Amino acid sequence: MTSLANKLQQLDGSGYGGYKRIAGTHRLNDNLELSVDRVQSDPFAPPSLVQARVPLAATGIDPGLLEGVGAVAVSDYLTRRVHEAIRAHAPGGGKGSGALSIDTPGQQVLERTSVVFTQQAPQVVVRLEAALPAQGRRIRGRAARTLLTEALPQVIDRALLNTDHAALETAVVLMRDQTRLRKLLVEHDLVGFIADGAVLPRAAGNSDLPADQAVPFASPASLQRSFTLDSGVEVTGMALPRGVSLIIGGGYHGKSTVLRALERGVYNHIGGDGREFAVTVDDAVALRAEDGRSVADVDISTFIGDLPGGSDTSRFSTTNASGSTSQAAGLVESLEAGATTLLIDEDTSATNFMIRDDRMRQLVPGDKEPITPLLDRIRALWEDQGVSTVLVAGGSGAFIDVADRVLLLDHYRVSDVSEDARDLAEPIATQEAFPAPQHRVLQGLEPKDSGKHRGGKKSWQAKGLQSLRHSSGTIDLSAVQQLVDPSQTNSIAAILKELEQRTGTNQTLDELVTELFQQINADGVETISPHRGHPGRLARPRPQEVFAAINRNRSLRVHR
Ligand code: ADP
Ligand code: MG
Repeated sequence: MTSLANKLQQLDGSGYGGYKRIAGTHRLNDNLELSVDRVQSDPFAPPSLVQARVPLAATGIDPGLLEGVGAVAVSDYLTRRVHEAIRAHAPGGGKGSGALSIDTPGQQVLERTSVVFTQQAPQVVVRLEAALPAQGRRIRGRAARTLLTEALPQVIDRALLNTDHAALETAVVLMRDQTRLRKLLVEHDLVGFIADGAVLPRAAGNSDLPADQAVPFASPASLQRSFTLDSGVEVTGMALPRGVSLIIGGGYHGKSTVLRALERGVYNHIGGDGREFAVTVDDAVALRAEDGRSVADVDISTFIGDLPGGSDTSRFSTTNASGSTSQAAGLVESLEAGATTLLIDEDTSATNFMIRDDRMRQLVPGDKEPITPLLDRIRALWEDQGVSTVLVAGGSGAFIDVADRVLLLDHYRVSDVSEDARDLAEPIATQEAFPAPQHRVLQGLEPKDSGKHRGGKKSWQAKGLQSLRHSSGTIDLSAVQQLVDPSQTNSIAAILKELEQRTGTNQTLDELVTELFQQINADGVETISPHRGHPGRLARPRPQEVFAAINRNRSLRVHR
């Protein structure tokens, strides 16, 4: 019996606090070292944090697979296998038997901290939670012994020491190919690519799994391109050029599904997902209306002129934006965050932000209507700022006049109707120059007086995928559609904490976020961990979602 097993046995029946005595490192067998980082203080507290360390050599994993983005794929693959092995060997039967858990990836492959690799004496480190078993408030020592010294080694044995090396390599190759394809987009002046045969629709509105009965994607001949990827595989599909692309078609014919695939195409997807080669430039931002959100000192004057009440829209701040002002602010903020492509769906847009028809133009004189709709700015956005748009609009033909290409969805099949559209298009007036976004200096993320009247400041905390909490309030991220994983939200919480500490340097938001991401690129997402026990539930967010969280913070203080 290992000394950990002995210790747990001896603790049987004593007060739950006695578990503190197992903190530290334990060798469980030749290949497995367990480190107990943080022990929960009672059975109802968040579970204890443990790390399993296995020599890389013992896993038989080819160290070459860990080079570059390969490490992300291997980490993701092993996290999934550990998750499955836990279900098989330590299914968790309530407080009495305790439970093991690990971060749970969805359909995307993200850099995460659940499995990492050390450089010297190469090791695979698996970060787990262990809910330690209790009977009332007493230690169940034998159950704990089973959990940590039997089930856990079985989990590691199955997931790490008996890895399916062929499947692992397939995952790494896929990751490298997808990453290459995304680079090719930029080299070829494209915003997105969707491979023939891709399965875009999802199983349900609340499921990211592929739909069973999908019409596979097929590219129209005019936009068809083939690319040879790192593995030698050739993918053929629809290559969407930069500029203004309009997607039209009857209701329920699959327009939003294509746009949604482009939104998610900023991430890589696991094999079998259907969207493996539905890829978008990595800074594309989905833009929608979001009435009720706050806005802090954003220049939206290119869209919105004098508002009733006389507020200055070149320095627009509000605690309660309307549909159109929220979408205008979101667009300008996206440019500040470096987006080169915007993805906009009529379903989630404010109509008056998008278009104004002729009769309205006649009835409501220009000086009574503060809004210049996107329709009248979209060419300038592209020509002056180089920002592309992919727009779904089935309800109005107005965008035909400003689109570089028009795609029609008919029964989920795409055709290129640009020629027909050109015949219908009417000449448009030259659009006024689109201004470059202004960069704001971050003054603070918390109210000025926060902490003074409360007992110490509480730092940012993620509450699930779509919410961040702080002692001074909540940030609602429910309209931030490209945030896909609660562990990304955890990372954003850690990043906000770090940013708050770096305020007062007169650096712009953009400079601060860029600096932080340089640090993440160099040292991994782990570098932003608050380090209370192991950081096992962090996944890499994009800078765009970090900006989105900052911008939705009702306590944001900036100046220009
Ligand atoms: P639109 O935006 O044109 O109204 P949606 O994209 O919302 O249409 O799609 C309507 C429905 O069709 C959704 O339930 C979606 O899952 C389904 N769907 C979309 N694309 C496909 C496809 N290629 N094969 C099968 N079903 C699809
Ligand atoms: Mg739709």
